[in-house]
Amino acid sequence: MPWCPKCGAEFREGFTACNTCHVKLISHKPDGTEMIEELPAPPGGWERESRKKQRLLRILRALTVLLLALAAALLLQNR
Ligand SMILES: [Zn+2]
Repeated sequence: MPWCPKCGAEFREGFTACNTCHVKLISHKPDGTEMIEELPAPPGGWERESRKKQRLLRILRALTVLLLALAAALLLQNR
């Protein structure tokens, strides 16, 4: 039975990683010398990336407003 070396939870057959600790499951109880293999952290950059995009969009919107204001000022000057 797959077994999490970190939290000690037992999993059903077919599981390969502990979803709480993100470590690879082992098929037997460790004897103390077992190495705990950490899995790479789940992708958490998605939210940060989307926040960055939102900031970029806000800057673009501000630039558009600025350009429109500039265009309007020029049009008024040319009159
Ligand atoms: Zn665990």
